[in-house]
This record gives sequence, structure tokens and C-alpha cells, in this order.
Amino acid sequence: MAVFSIRGHGDPVLREKASPVLKINQEIKDLAKNMSDTMYDAPGAGLAANQIGILKRVITYDIGEGLHVCINPEVVWVSGECEEDEEGCLSFGEVRVLISRPVRVKVRAKDLNGNDVEITAEDLEARVLQHEIDHLNGVVILDRTAKREKRKALKSLRDSIIY
Ligand code: ZN
Repeated sequence: MAVFSIRGHGDPVLREKASPVLKINQEIKDLAKNMSDTMYDAPGAGLAANQIGILKRVITYDIGEGLHVCINPEVVWVSGECEEDEEGCLSFGEVRVLISRPVRVKVRAKDLNGNDVEITAEDLEARVLQHEIDHLNGVVILDRTAKREKRKALKSLRDSIIY
């Protein structure tokens, strides 16, 4: 299919809430393929549809164990235990910020065949799922980090702009 350009910091589409997918038709299957092509090309561990400018609730991810496509993913449970770790985002270049997130999550979604799936994830997979689902809600890494980290990240984003 196709590799899309990834929307970056400041693009309003990253701040919008994506709409639920009502029908898993060819358009959604093509979208998922384009998203995984774009994600592997980048390369990144995950991508949300917002990042290629499409406001549909679709995410793709691969933490080295194969491709996952989740449609209308929803976090239905999180562990009380949280862990802080550095996180980056394909929309934010080289920026890394410390984010504390629950270590384990349970996510409900549909797969590309329309089947209900329930994913119990931990560590990196849990972090990627939460990160991508955040995107679908218009939330980005800068919103999840401490003020000081955010200031540092914004400064490096400003400094990396090439005129
Ligand atoms: Zn991201």
C-alpha cells in the first residue's frame, strides 16, 4: 500500500478525538495496511490513525512479536502499580520524556475480521497500547509528563526546527 507522512508536533489533528469505526470495510483494512507500512518504515513500535491525519479509532503496534491491529481499542482495566520510563513518539522526533503509566492493562478491541479481542498486556506492550490509545483521544506525551520535562521537550522541539 503506502507510506504516509507522519503528522508532527503542532498539527491540530494530534489534538482531536478520533471517531469509532462503525463498519470494518475495505477502507478500514486499507487504512490499517497503510498505518503498518508507515509504522515499519519510520520505524516505530506503534502508530495511531491520527498520526497520518485520519480521525478513526485504529491503532497498529509491533513490539517485536508481530503486528497487531486494534479497532476501537478501549482500556478496561489498569494495574495499581505504575512505572516511570522514557517515552518517545513518532510525531515528536528525538524527544524523550519520562512518563509514569500502569504496568499492566486490559484492552478490549476488534480485530480486522470484526472479532472481539481482549488483550492483557504488561511492560512495553502495556505502555505502547496506552500511548496509542491516548493519541485517539487527542492526548500526546507532553500531556503525560512533568512540567519540567515538558519545558525541556518543547525547547528541544523549537531548537530542532529547520528554516
Ligand atoms: Zn505517539
